[in-house]
Amino acid sequence: MSGAGTHRELREQLGVYALGLLPPEEVPRLRAHLDGCPECRAELAELAPLAADLRLVDPDRLPGPAAPPRALGERVLTAVREESLLREHRERRLARRGLRRAVLVPAAAAVLAAGVASGVTYGLTRPDPAPPAAAPAVLVERLPLTVVAADVRAAGPAVVVPHTWGVEVTFAATGFAPGRTYRALVRTVDGAALPAGEFLGVGARELTCDMQAAVLRADAVAFEVVDEAGGTVLTLPLPRA
Ligand SMILES: [Zn+2]
Repeated sequence: MSGAGTHRELREQLGVYALGLLPPEEVPRLRAHLDGCPECRAELAELAPLAADLRLVDPDRLPGPAAPPRALGERVLTAVREESLLREHRERRLARRGLRRAVLVPAAAAVLAAGVASGVTYGLTRPDPAPPAAAPAVLVERLPLTVVAADVRAAGPAVVVPHTWGVEVTFAATGFAPGRTYRALVRTVDGAALPAGEFLGVGARELTCDMQAAVLRADAVAFEVVDEAGGTVLTLPLPRA
C-alpha cells in the first residue's frame, strides 16, 4: 500500500486530520505516511493554522465587506480547496447518522461565505505536484431566508453552493413541525419547480438541511420549502448574476 495512489488518498485526508476529525483507526496509517512523505508533512504544516481558524471561527464575528483581513483570501482559498474534503466529510458524517455535523460544516461554510461578503471571487490556482482532474472556481453565496410560517425561525443566512451538477442550499432553522414532511424545490428562469429533497421536522430543535437540486445556479431564481399541504414555509430568492 505505497505509491502515488496512497499518497493522493492520504493527502486528501490531511484537512480532516488537521481538524482533529479523522477517525482514530485511520490515524496510524496517515502518521506512518507522514513519516516518509515530506510533501504531505509540508501540506499539513500549512493546513494546521487554518484548521485552527476553522475550529474557532464564529460566523457572527466574521468581517463584513468593509474590512476583510489580509489573511482572509488565503483562508478562503484553502477552504475552497477543501471543498472536496468537506464532501468527503459530509459522506462520512451521513454514515455516522449526523454525529459531528455541527463541528465542521457551519464554520467552513461561514469562511467560504465570508469570501463572498468581501466580494472575493476565487479559483483554485495553486500549483499542485499531483493536480486533480479539474479544479473549478467556486463562488459561494450567503443569502438571507424569508420565513413565511409562524413557528419557523432561520438560524442565519443560507449558504448557496454552485456545482457542476446543480445547486446546493444549506440552512439551519428551528420550528418545523415534528414528524411532518417538508419539501424543498428550486424554481428556474423557465418557471419550472425542480425537487431539491425532503426532510422531517424536529420541532424546537435546530435542523441543518443540506438540499440539492439538478438546476444550475445560473438557471435558478428561487429556493423554497413547502409543507405537506403545499404551503410555502420559507423562500430564498436567488439573485441573477
Ligand atoms: Zn504523501
